[in-house]
Amino acid sequence: MQTLVFATNNAHKAREIEQILGQGYSVKTLRDIGCVEEIEETESTLEGNALLKARYVRDHFGYDCFSEDTGLEVTALAGDPGVRTARYAGDSRDEVANMNLLLGNMEGQSDRSARFRTVIALVRGNEEVLIEGICNGRIADSPNGNKGFGYDPLFIPDGYDLTFGELGDEVKNIISHRARATQKLKELL
Ligand code: IMP
Repeated sequence: MQTLVFATNNAHKAREIEQILGQGYSVKTLRDIGCVEEIEETESTLEGNALLKARYVRDHFGYDCFSEDTGLEVTALAGDPGVRTARYAGDSRDEVANMNLLLGNMEGQSDRSARFRTVIALVRGNEEVLIEGICNGRIADSPNGNKGFGYDPLFIPDGYDLTFGELGDEVKNIISHRARATQKLKELL
């Protein structure tokens, strides 16, 4: 069993990644290693923020580690919310407020195409690797489904007519941005 430290306290992300990695891996979160402080995401790119979190764990706790940062990039909004996806509607990271703001900003837009982009940073000793996973799709007219988290009720992946909120983990863990990045991570480990 290989133990990996994942620099997150997001239980949804940890569960998704553990399911995708499958048997043979035990994933520890920040709480598990005693890191209770919030690691501020101060960089202006997903890559920068992913590296910042993984480096923090290596430098302060001495573990090899991986972290991930995900953004929703909407074509009609010039790639927004992008790196600000979590705080799109404000610092409270309110998922419903974020979705409502997105829907408001999409009013009247005929191009509803969007993508989720995940960047995983793997830090092992002095080695640092960046891995990307992309899932293309479109923004629904209204939220549908209560599975998953974040913007899942608004995101319809290419090849489907249902949102991630309706499709659930079984499909998401195969085709999602995070699933694709995690598969590449698995090949590297
Ligand atoms: P962060 O990567 O924790 O900074 O999260 C960025 C934002 O994207 C948060 O608002 C999450 O809710 C959202 N997010 C990240 N991954 C997903 C996903 O797989 N589906 C829906 N929303 C997501």
